[in-house]
Amino acid sequence: MPVPKRKRSRARRDKRFANKGVKVRSYASCSNCSEPKVPHAACAGCGYYRGRKVLNTKAERVVKRADALKEKQGKQAAVQNKLQGTPVQEPKSE
Ligand SMILES: [Zn+2]
Repeated sequence: MPVPKRKRSRARRDKRFANKGVKVRSYASCSNCSEPKVPHAACAGCGYYRGRKVLNTKAERVVKRADALKEKQGKQAAVQNKLQGTPVQEPKSE
């Protein structure tokens, strides 16, 4: 097994990490909402990439979750009413 002939000095070793500092990240602006975004990635603000919607944003997920919860609670209330014998008011169709 090949082994290094000499120990690498601390100075020599640490030069490897010297240019690894915090760098300014590049960014692009979204063509849909003009928010700053990571280039070549979908916009986190509106979920668009190259003029097409590809992601659900956090706000949309929250709304969807709230709607689902409301629907679930409505169904549970209907079941409760059925069990208790009180008729559920349904919209009249003409
Ligand atoms: Zn956007």
